[in-house]
Amino acid sequence: MFQSEKKYQAFKKKIWLSSPTMHGEELRYMTQAFETNWMSTVGENVDEIEKGIAEKIGCNYAVALSSGTAALHLAMKLAEVKRGEKVFCSDMTFSATVNPVRYEDGDQIFIDTERDTWNMDPEALEKAFCLYPEVRIVVLAHLYGTPGKLDEIRAVCNRHGAIIVEDAAESLGATYKGIQTGRFGNIGAISFNGNKIITGTSGGMLLTDDREQANKARKWSTQSRENAPWYQHEEIGYNYRMSNVIAGVARGQLPHLEEHISQKKAIYERYKAGFKDLPVKMNPYDEKNSEPNFWLSCILIDEEAMCRQVRSDSDACYIAEHGRSCPSEILETLARYNAEGRPIWKPMHMQPIYRMNEFITREGSGRARTNAYIAGKGIDVGMDIFNRGLCLPSDNKMTEEEQSIIIDIVRSCFD
Ligand SMILES: *Cc1c(COP(=O)(O)O)cnc(C)c1O
Repeated sequence: MFQSEKKYQAFKKKIWLSSPTMHGEELRYMTQAFETNWMSTVGENVDEIEKGIAEKIGCNYAVALSSGTAALHLAMKLAEVKRGEKVFCSDMTFSATVNPVRYEDGDQIFIDTERDTWNMDPEALEKAFCLYPEVRIVVLAHLYGTPGKLDEIRAVCNRHGAIIVEDAAESLGATYKGIQTGRFGNIGAISFNGNKIITGTSGGMLLTDDREQANKARKWSTQSRENAPWYQHEEIGYNYRMSNVIAGVARGQLPHLEEHISQKKAIYERYKAGFKDLPVKMNPYDEKNSEPNFWLSCILIDEEAMCRQVRSDSDACYIAEHGRSCPSEILETLARYNAEGRPIWKPMHMQPIYRMNEFITREGSGRARTNAYIAGKGIDVGMDIFNRGLCLPSDNKMTEEEQSIIIDIVRSCFD
């Protein structure tokens, strides 16, 4: 069945989903911090990465923080989420997009996904405002580095007087109509986590045009110290500021962002060409209006080409079938060759922790639809993409040759 199994050895060096790629400047800036004893959350690297990112994104202020999650948390505080307040959120995203709503005791309502970019569906969002017109805040992510339907979403938000908190953690460098993601929300967030398109090992930033917001975020992130000779506090503070060493890594990576994007794009294009005659589609994007950063390359298996696959909360099981495959079979096969793929991020409305939260599709309340699915009657878009999709190895250090082997391995699953 696996003909290619005889042809290829497992990769000696693991092929990663997406791993850090260092160049040299990172070490220079880290060393500079070391040699000048600026081994703290203050220093030239912090100032320079803030300047560099604000310039790249085109926003007035970028506040360097310890993580993207910290940035999203402070964004929720800036948006003044109240206890029990409903907040509309992307459903198919990493949990860090939506958890900060709960840190502030808000109540997430998840909005279903559209098929053109795998991001928040503006039609479902409109539906959500019909049901909950009082909602003030929309948290929007750009999955895998692909910009969502920004014009449509912004039009819906404007119509209903809601602000956007934009999670550009996965999409740094991606543009929509020539404008950088992270620039569309009233408040934005990016991440320098180790698996992102550029990294600081960790770290993140809050983006805003508003000087007062930037000052508040900066103050909260440094324990909310008041201007006094002693430690004086009028509000709750956090230890969320970025280290000058980490800022040095991120600072050294920033000049290589575009290079990483073009490597990722080449990977995406090679997969696309390699799978031309297979019953799969690449993760789609709006080719007219957007330029993703191609952080992760994914495929969606055609419905007719899916073999049977069942997933519990922790395991997956499938029945291999001639001419068909499924994400579980492909991921298992890749792992056997020492290559790392990953399932599509499991939608938030399917997560046990958020099982009680409202979920809204184009048709209205999606919980009913999820139940209908269990009864065999239908399925929401997020669940469908989760069932049939997967992320392929997208590491920018993967050679063309290695990628050809990955393509053959995927192909063998459909034999
Ligand atoms: C990585 C990620 C985050 C969190 O960033 P950290 O820096 O790891 O805290 C938030 N949202 C999305 C969509 C992410 O992929």
